[in-house]
Amino acid sequence: MGAENIFDNGLDANPANFQPQTPLSFLDWATTVYPDKTAVIHGDARYTYRQFGERCRRLASALQQRGVGVGDTVAVMAPNSPPMLEAHYGVPMTGAVLNALNYRLDAAGIAFILGHGEAKVLITDREFSPVISQALTQLDRTIIVIDIDDPLAGSGEMLGETDYESFLSEGDADFRWQPPADEWQAISLNYTSGTTGNPKGVVYHHRGAFLNAMGNALVFGLNSRSVYLWTLPMFHCNGWCYTWGVTAVGGTHVCLRGPDPARIFPLIKEHGVTHMCGAPIILNMLVHAPDDVKTNFDNPIEVATGGAAPPSAVIAAMEKMGFKVTHLYGLTESYGPSTYCAPKAAWADMDLEEKAVEMARQGVRYPTLSEQAVLDPNTLAPVPADGATIGELMLRGNTVMKGYLKNPDASAEAFEGGWFHTGDLGVVHADGYVEIKDRSKDIILSGAENISTLEVEEALYRHPHVMEAAVVAMPHERWDETPCAFVTLTPGAGAVTEDDIIQWCKDNLAHFKAPTKVVFGPLPKTSTGKVQKFVLRERARAL
Ligand code: ADP
Repeated sequence: MGAENIFDNGLDANPANFQPQTPLSFLDWATTVYPDKTAVIHGDARYTYRQFGERCRRLASALQQRGVGVGDTVAVMAPNSPPMLEAHYGVPMTGAVLNALNYRLDAAGIAFILGHGEAKVLITDREFSPVISQALTQLDRTIIVIDIDDPLAGSGEMLGETDYESFLSEGDADFRWQPPADEWQAISLNYTSGTTGNPKGVVYHHRGAFLNAMGNALVFGLNSRSVYLWTLPMFHCNGWCYTWGVTAVGGTHVCLRGPDPARIFPLIKEHGVTHMCGAPIILNMLVHAPDDVKTNFDNPIEVATGGAAPPSAVIAAMEKMGFKVTHLYGLTESYGPSTYCAPKAAWADMDLEEKAVEMARQGVRYPTLSEQAVLDPNTLAPVPADGATIGELMLRGNTVMKGYLKNPDASAEAFEGGWFHTGDLGVVHADGYVEIKDRSKDIILSGAENISTLEVEEALYRHPHVMEAAVVAMPHERWDETPCAFVTLTPGAGAVTEDDIIQWCKDNLAHFKAPTKVVFGPLPKTSTGKVQKFVLRERARAL
């Protein structure tokens, strides 16, 4: 007879000691602890936490009166503005799932997502009426449309049966929401950009959203004095979960409809902004903003960047301007950031350029993620921590998606072997920090060598006259593939030639990694600020 486990008896979970985790509870907490504190700023509008909480509960109540509940989807097409933020609470308070739409998609893309995600309600900012009205004609289902009439939006046709503020007034400010019966219940649906074929619908659960919001607050050092400027689109992985994370500390959300440096610098000053996030392209925009737009700050502004690899030259330039950079890595499938480059005490003695190279590594897992490893994608054996052996970055833990909506094959493939396969290739350094070398489809196979496009871009960004750069594979008779660089020069760069750039790369990289061709001009980008490498690959193939 086996010994009885004394800890199994009479110690069951019950409502007093086990509650489903949900980021919605942060709002209840903040409205109780900081009722009179400014929760949301948008242009001249201010909402205290009491008012913010009321607006979210009204939204939930009004949606419920229209029959919205568990198993339903509510889509929102809006820039960073109060309705988009409120939807992160009001929609899941009904039990429904929030589908924040990428507002830079075209009508066909929007129609696909509304159809695939089976949205029952669409809340849409009038700025996007042209694309939405077109999308609605392509949709073969009925949908309740509610217009947001933001005074900062300019003109745009009203498409729906009511406007957002009237809709809120239909709702009950004392609406009592119930936590999900199970924290595994879906909270949001976020579509990947789908560069090839239709996008995939990534489903998040309440538990993961709660945890990643907490992870963000820990890693980025948020607290109740934090003033967070929304330079990152809230539609991108639910604003990397900062939509919930800032509320989790009782911080202030400063909305911003679009990331324009001419607005960002004055807003930082006006509201005493302490934290903001953005893709490296946003940082680069701030670095290259005209001098008359830039301002000096009394205290360093914390800026977290990710979504694409930040070149060390961009990190260094931001730090010089008075920003303190935190480098995050993640994907839609990991609720945004899963990984960060934890700062080290030893960096204090380094010069800025050297330190920025360290900071450009993707780093270590969030404390809220269970495991991160670089593995051989076939055997799942870990690669040695030698900074050289390439494997695929894999993640596991409670901040990995539930799966892809209505796509069991893609889900099974992504989770094969009990790991989430990121599709990113990287190495592990001796200190355990991960460095991404490329997306698996981007790496260049030149003769017997792999060339990391990120490494070549890193060298290009250090050229004093390079503003932006992207490197892709170009077919080559002898080597199969060689690097082709697409470069945007800084304004007033003068006569920088293809040979100058190639020579610069030869001086700063192993010779075989230097581009064999350089094309000057603007770079095509996705709506989340990533260079569209597939477009450049086609261009390179046609050269
Ligand atoms: P999409 O796949 O639609 O572009 P995601 O936001 O999910 O949108 O993109 C995630 C990908 O972005 C990662 O797989 C990785 O290739 C890239 N990425 C994100 N953050 C970083 C980073 N800090 N460094 C390098 N690459 C990054």
